Amino acid sequence: MHALVAPYHVAYQALRLGASIGIALAPQHGEDAEVLLSRADIALYAAKAAGKGTFMVFEPSMEARIQERVRLETDLRAALDSESGLFVFYQPIVDIRSRRVTAREALIRWHHPQRGWVSPAEFVPVAETSGLIDRLGAFVLGRACRDAAAWADEARVAVNVSPGQLGKGTLTTIVEAALTTYGLAPDRLEIEVTETALLNDVLDCVADLREVRRIGVRVALDDFGTGSSSLSHLRVFPFDKIKIDGSFVKDAVTCRNCAAIVKALADLGERMGVTTVAEGVETQVQLDRVAAEGCREVQGFLFGRPAPSEADKPMIEVLNQRTSAPVPVPTPAATRQAARAVSVA
Ligand code: C2E
Ligand code: MG
Ligand code: MG
Repeated sequence: MHALVAPYHVAYQALRLGASIGIALAPQHGEDAEVLLSRADIALYAAKAAGKGTFMVFEPSMEARIQERVRLETDLRAALDSESGLFVFYQPIVDIRSRRVTAREALIRWHHPQRGWVSPAEFVPVAETSGLIDRLGAFVLGRACRDAAAWADEARVAVNVSPGQLGKGTLTTIVEAALTTYGLAPDRLEIEVTETALLNDVLDCVADLREVRRIGVRVALDDFGTGSSSLSHLRVFPFDKIKIDGSFVKDAVTCRNCAAIVKALADLGERMGVTTVAEGVETQVQLDRVAAEGCREVQGFLFGRPAPSEADKPMIEVLNQRTSAPVPVPTPAATRQAARAVSVA
C-alpha cells in the first residue's frame, strides 16, 4: 500500500495513486478462482465503503449485506418500473406566528411486497449508489407537483434532491417538465439539498442550483448543523431557507450551547433575509424554545406527521392492515443517518 501511494513525478507534477485492497483466502473463503475473486471483490467493496485507502479481509457477513442490498435494488427497480408500492407523504411546515402552513415536505415511502414498509433511511442510499436516484427523484417530483397543484391553501411543496441528482446539468429540465406537466407555478416548488451536495463538484452543483432558482424555484439548505457544517456554504449560494437540524432543536431545551447555536442561526437568517425552519419539533417546550430563539417556521410531529395524499389514503389503509408494522416513524438518529447516507453515497 505504501509503495502504491508514493507520488510519481510526471512533467514537473507529483501524481498520486490511491488503492483499496480486498482479500480472500484459500481454502477458507473458497477453493476455486471464481469464488475467491468474487469474495475478494466483496471485501474490496467493504474497504472502499470504510473510507478507501485501506484493506479488508472477506467475512461472510459482508456477502449477506451485499446480497440484501442487491435484492433491495432489484425490488426497488421493479417498484419504479411498475410505479407500485411507492408513495409520497407530506408533512406540514408551519409559520410560528401565523400558524399558517407555508409548505409541505414531500417524503418518499415504499411498501415492499414481502417486507412491508421499508424506511427511506434504508432504500434512498440504495437508490443513490445504484443509479436509481434520478428515476426515484423524478417520481417524487412528479407526484409532488401533481398533488400540490390541487392544494386549496396553495402552500409550497418541498422536494428533497440527493447529491447524485446535482452537478449533471439536468435538474432544471426535469423540474421544468414536472412543473409544466402538472401546471404548478415555479414559486410553489422548493427543493431541499444538504450541505454534502456542495462538497463534491461544488461549481457544477451550484450552477444547477442557480439555474433552477433562475426559473423561480426556491432552494432550501436541509439538516443544517450536521455533517460538514460550514458557514461558507451560505456564501457560495443564496439559499432561500435554512432548515436547522432536529438534533439542535431537541437539545436546545436542555443545552445552553445548542440554544445559542439555534439563536445564532436564526439571527443569521434574519440578517440575510433567509427563512429559518426548526426541524423535528415534537413538544410544546421545544416549540417555545425555538420561537424564543427567533426561528420563523417549524416542522415536526407537534404540527403533523408525514401523511399520504387524500387519493392515496385508502390504499395506505389497506396496506397497513396487510402488514403488522405501520408506516415507520423515524427516530432523529435514523433521520440523521439517512441524511448522511444519502449525501455521502
Ligand atoms: P429530511 O429531508 O431531513 O426529512 C425529515 C425527516 O424527519 C423525515 O424522515 C421526517 O419524517 C422526519 N421527521 C419530521 N418531523 C419529525 C419529528 O418531529 N421527530 C422525528 N423524530 N422525525 C421527524 P423520513 O421521511 O424517514 O426521511 C428521512 C430522510 O430520507 C429525509 O430527511 C431525506 O434526507 C431522505 N428522503 C426522504 N424522502 C426523500 C426523497 O424523496 N428523495 C430524497 N433524495 N431523499 C429523501
Ligand atoms: Mg428534507
Ligand atoms: Mg431535514
